[in-house]
Amino acid sequence: MKSTAYDIVVVGAGMVGAALALALTRAGWQVALIDRAAPVPFEASQRPDLRVSAISSGSERWLRELGVWEGIVQRRSTPFRRMSVWEQQAGLLAQIPALAQLSARARTTFDAADLKRPQLGHIVENPVTQSALWEALEADGRATLLAPATLVSLTQDEQQATVTLKDQILTAPLVIAADGAASMTRQQVSIGTSSDQYQQHAMVITVAHEAPAQDITWQMFTPTGPRAYLPLPTIDGQCWGSLVWYHDPHTLDRLAALDETALLDAIRDAFPEELPRLQGAPAHGRFPIARQHAHQYSKGRVVLVGDAAHTINPLAGQGLNLGFQDAQCLSRLLTQARRQQGDPGASGLLQAYEQERRPENTLMMTAMDLFYHGFSNRHPPLKLLRNLGLGLAGSLSPARNEVARFAMGLDGHLSRPMKTLLRRLPL
Ligand SMILES: Cc1cc2nc3c(=O)[nH]c(=O)nc-3n(C[C@H](O)[C@H](O)[C@H](O)COP(=O)(O)OP(=O)(O)OC[C@H]3O[C@@H](n4cnc5c(N)ncnc54)[C@H](O)[C@@H]3O)c2cc1C
Repeated sequence: MKSTAYDIVVVGAGMVGAALALALTRAGWQVALIDRAAPVPFEASQRPDLRVSAISSGSERWLRELGVWEGIVQRRSTPFRRMSVWEQQAGLLAQIPALAQLSARARTTFDAADLKRPQLGHIVENPVTQSALWEALEADGRATLLAPATLVSLTQDEQQATVTLKDQILTAPLVIAADGAASMTRQQVSIGTSSDQYQQHAMVITVAHEAPAQDITWQMFTPTGPRAYLPLPTIDGQCWGSLVWYHDPHTLDRLAALDETALLDAIRDAFPEELPRLQGAPAHGRFPIARQHAHQYSKGRVVLVGDAAHTINPLAGQGLNLGFQDAQCLSRLLTQARRQQGDPGASGLLQAYEQERRPENTLMMTAMDLFYHGFSNRHPPLKLLRNLGLGLAGSLSPARNEVARFAMGLDGHLSRPMKTLLRRLPL
C-alpha cells in the first residue's frame, strides 16, 4: 500500500477539523485532512439545512482571520441582534397577577444596541460553513484533502503515528482527532470519556413562516425542557426559522410521527406567542443530548479537538464555538513550534494545549448546566442555586445574568468570584 509522510494528519473535516487544517497549512505545516464524506456542494436556492449553529463574535473573528468569513456571508447567514430567555408562566402562577408580573420580569433580553455591537452573533447552516472552509482549503492548494476516506486503524510509536485508510497509509509526528463525538481516533488510542445523558432529547424543526424576517433568537424554558427559535435567511422571498424542542424521547417520537399539518398544530399549541405565523415545517430531526468529556486530550502523538474532546448541552449553542477555541489554541502553539522548527507532536506542546483548554471547556460545561437548571423550574440543583444566593428563579439577579451572558457566548470571560464558584459546584 502507498505510504505518504506528512507533518500533521487531521482526521475529520467537520467545521473544527477543516478550520484547523487551514490554519496549520497557512503556518507552513504539511497537512493531510481526511473525512469519510466529501462536503455537500452548496446551492443558493436550496432550503435551509436542518443543522445550524449560532456563531459567536469570537468565532467570527477567527474565521475572518482565516479569510473564510466572506465566503460564509456570500453564501448565507443570519445576524441576530436580540436574544431573549424566559420561563413559561403556567398554571396557578399565571393566574395570580402579582406572581405573573414577577415571572414576566424574569425575561432576560440582550440587545446588540445596548452592548454597542452591530449584532450578537450569526446563525449559519453547518454545510455553509463547511463548504466555505473547503473552498478556502482548495484555493490555498497546499493541504492534501482526502474525502471520502475513512480511518481504518491508527498505531503509533515514539517518533510518529500511522494512519491506515482503506487504500493508503499516512504517517505523521502528529495526528489531530477532529472526528466528532464518537471519535474513532480517540477509541483507537484508548482515551476514555466521562459522559452524562440528559433526560431530554432535542427535536430540530425547520419552519417556513410569514414575514417579517426575524432578528431575534429566543428560548422559553418549560418544566419539560426549553423551546427555542433561531432566525434563518429569507430565500426567494420565503422567511425561514429553526425551532428546537427539548422533551423526553417518548414525546418526541410521537411528534416525529405526525404529518406536517398535525406537527404545525402541535407547535402552535406548545410554542409561545412570540412564534411568527407558521406556513410549513418541511424537515425535522432528533438529537440526543449528552455531556461528554475525554479523560485526557492527548496520548502519545494524538491530540483531540472539538466534539472528539467534549460535547455539551446544545441549549445555548456553544459546542462549535468551544471547538473553534480549541483549534485556535492548538494552531497558536503549533505556529510557534513551526517558527522554532519544533516537533509538532512534542509532549510539552500537547500538555500546554490541555492545560489551557480543559479548564475553559469544563467551565463552559458547568455554566451551561447552571444556565439549564437555573432556568428550569423543577430541577433539584435550583435549590442549590437558591441556597448559594444566586437568586430566585424569577429574579433578575446580576449573577444569573452573568452566567447567562457567558453561556450564550456574549461574554468570553466570567468574573473571578463566579469562576471560583462554578469550579466548586457539584453539577
Ligand atoms: C441540536 C444541536 C444544535 C447545535 N447548535 C449549536 C450552535 O448553535 N452553536 C454551536 O456552537 N454548536 C452547536 N452545536 C454543537 C455543534 O454542532 C458541534 O459542537 C460541532 O458540530 C462539532 O464540530 P466538530 O468538527 O468537532 O465535529 P463534527 O461536526 O461531528 O465533525 C466530525 C467530522 O469527522 C468525520 N468523521 C467521523 N468519523 C470519521 C472517520 N472514522 N474517518 C474519517 N472521518 C470521520 C465526519 O464525517 C465529520 O465530518 C449543536 C449540536 C446539536 C446536536
